Amino acid sequence: SIDFKWIRDDKVAMAANIENRNSSANLELVLELYEKMLTVQKEVELLRAERNVVANKMKGKLEPAERQKLIEEGKNIKEGLVSLEEDLLKLTDELQQEAQRIPNMSHPDVPVGGEDCSVVRKMVGSPQVFGFPVKDHLQLGRDLDLIDFDAAAEVSGSKFYYLKNAAVLLEMALVNWTIAQVMRRGFTPLTTPEIVRSSIVEKCGFQPRGENTQVYSIEGSDQCLIGTAEIPVGGIHMDSILAETSLPLKYVALSHCFRTEAGAAGTATRGLYRVHQFSKVEMFILCRPEESNSYHEELIRIEEDLFSSLGFHFKILDMASGDLGAPAYRKFDVEAWMPGLGRFGEISSASNCTDYQSRRLGIRYRPEAASTIPTKGKGNLAPPQFVHTLNATACAVPRMIVCLLENYQQEDGSVVIPEPLRPFMGGLEVIRPKS
Ligand code: AMP
Repeated sequence: SIDFKWIRDDKVAMAANIENRNSSANLELVLELYEKMLTVQKEVELLRAERNVVANKMKGKLEPAERQKLIEEGKNIKEGLVSLEEDLLKLTDELQQEAQRIPNMSHPDVPVGGEDCSVVRKMVGSPQVFGFPVKDHLQLGRDLDLIDFDAAAEVSGSKFYYLKNAAVLLEMALVNWTIAQVMRRGFTPLTTPEIVRSSIVEKCGFQPRGENTQVYSIEGSDQCLIGTAEIPVGGIHMDSILAETSLPLKYVALSHCFRTEAGAAGTATRGLYRVHQFSKVEMFILCRPEESNSYHEELIRIEEDLFSSLGFHFKILDMASGDLGAPAYRKFDVEAWMPGLGRFGEISSASNCTDYQSRRLGIRYRPEAASTIPTKGKGNLAPPQFVHTLNATACAVPRMIVCLLENYQQEDGSVVIPEPLRPFMGGLEVIRPKS
């Protein structure tokens, strides 16, 4: 449930936030639709009351003429009501559609501006020094017979790939090692459905329809392929009231992700860097509102541990307002050094979505401490509150493979497997070219 009253009352701050976030949301239209909806709602209520009055009158003893008059009156009210209720339904639908596009508010420390205004919070490690000309992951993938883009292009289209040989083990090792690491920190493992209802995608703050949608829709159904496990995990607890003692709920979910990558172009799309289908391990937390900022810090600490253990050189960015997307209140991205591509590339993203998704998904909890304070006429139950949700990438496999191949390449063309992954690859230490 979107809080329209709050949107109306905080209109100035809302408008500034929409502008800062470079959002296409139309606040004026939302408020106009909201006012219209309130008016029609009132009219519907009035007519319903009138209908009841007429119905009550009909119960009494009446002259035939009078009864006939009431029947006529009742008929007119009913017709009016049907048409008004139809209007109300249409307006509510339109309002919801428009309101979905209003972004979350922003944390006061979020840098205001476009992508270039993001601020580096921390730099970790240093770039690998190579005494030989480095290859990019496309070349390494070909030379070591690890990736086949050509066959995938024939079979599926561009931006698809087959992983082969040790790369398959590498994907599985990355997934298994990451899940084990995150589980150690108290997260519950999940695999998720990869097809979900469009309404859930919308409630999580993504646009399943429209020209530039990143979402693949299934023709002839109201379902979509997921772009991230955040969506099915967000949906697990929808329309429920959780016990406060069950919070925080921490999940680590493995899924495939499907993205149209509409509008993506240029060199940043080469090879495995930007593909239509990939495996990803995602962390997701549901918590009490007052704890979401500290869980956001915890998520970024876990990411930092994971990427440091793999020996990457990376920076953590506090993302600028124009680059937050709709649901995030604050977002930290990690960009790792990719020597073959010769630049930093995003490998993960951690967002605090506050109550943006929980309001739409209807995920609440009942505060315990307050529940002992008697509330007027409602027994001892405190009103339920919306939880906060957070999500963060633990391992987006293709970009991790880019980093691993490019950072661990050796002069003889081989690639060394970083220590932590070896037990998950049957002890394999080096991927060597076939002789
Ligand atoms: P996002 O959910 O958009 O924040 O993406 C999470 C992570 O998934 C990013 O940080 C990337 O590492 C990875 N990723 C996103 N889109 C793609 C893609 N099209 N191909 C490969 N990896 C991607």
